[in-house]
Amino acid sequence: MPQGLEPAAQVKARLARQLRAVANTRDQHLHRASARLVREHPLVVLEDLRIRNMTRSAAGTAEEPGTNVAQKRGLNRSILDAGWGKLVQFVRYKAERAGGGLICVDSRGTSQECRRCKAVAAKPLSLRRHVCPCGLDEHRDVNSAGVIRDRGLAVKAASEGVSPSGTPTWAVGPCVVPGRSSPPEGSAGER
Ligand SMILES: [Zn+2]
Repeated sequence: MPQGLEPAAQVKARLARQLRAVANTRDQHLHRASARLVREHPLVVLEDLRIRNMTRSAAGTAEEPGTNVAQKRGLNRSILDAGWGKLVQFVRYKAERAGGGLICVDSRGTSQECRRCKAVAAKPLSLRRHVCPCGLDEHRDVNSAGVIRDRGLAVKAASEGVSPSGTPTWAVGPCVVPGRSSPPEGSAGER
């Protein structure tokens, strides 16, 4: 064996340790972030990542959304996706505990739709600003956040008054959970 090269087994073990460390750090961050979201907001609205993945795969070639995303975006993308799923999971149970609400909305078109006039302002991912003929000009993520919030509030309004118990009656949508390729109420397919 050439000098200075680690045996494969050692490299593997070291990588495994590093990946665990990354996962632990990420989980700690997600716990802090989700706790803060639930503490500061009685209602949290998130995008349904599963639907977003399906939208992405439609433009690609692979049939399986999760796999396609991993192929296109690499490890960083899959780590981000796993992080998103965990954030949803953490917000969900913390909100349930605190009597708060979580609404997951269809994420299709959230980056293209104008939050003010609802027109579609198509733009590539490289274009970071949302500029609409209606006059709205702001960072694309700020506009998207507004679209997502409004969709969530529409769901909330539609579901209010269903329960007379006084507890929040806000609908909880089928947000993605890591390892699932279908909504919780569907069959639990692994990806
Ligand atoms: Zn507009």
